[in-house]
Amino acid sequence: MELVSPDKETCVKCKACAEICPMRVILIGEDGYPRAISNAFKTCINCGYCVDVCTVGALHHRVRKRSMNSDAALKRLKRIKENRKKRGEIK
Ligand code: SF4
Ligand code: SF4
Repeated sequence: MELVSPDKETCVKCKACAEICPMRVILIGEDGYPRAISNAFKTCINCGYCVDVCTVGALHHRVRKRSMNSDAALKRLKRIKENRKKRGEIK
């Protein structure tokens, strides 16, 4: 079983889990769903951002469960997007 896997019935393919992962353990596959890189278990630092940022609760992580408060993850994603916008990577 992979480190992370989406519930394909609820995942909306927003990519937020992949964008927020500080260790770049999560990739978006050709089907648009997130998946873990090989050896993800060795690289993941168990920060939990990936599960917390998924507002529809679609991402399963082998170790981390969603916390009660996802504010920190959502703020981090907002900062990441703002910085990418400043660098001209997204509009
Ligand atoms: S954050 Fe959730 S909805 Fe968005 S791509 Fe990841 S698993 Fe799917
Ligand atoms: S727990 Fe943190 S490091 Fe591990 S996959 Fe999720 S976001 Fe990435």
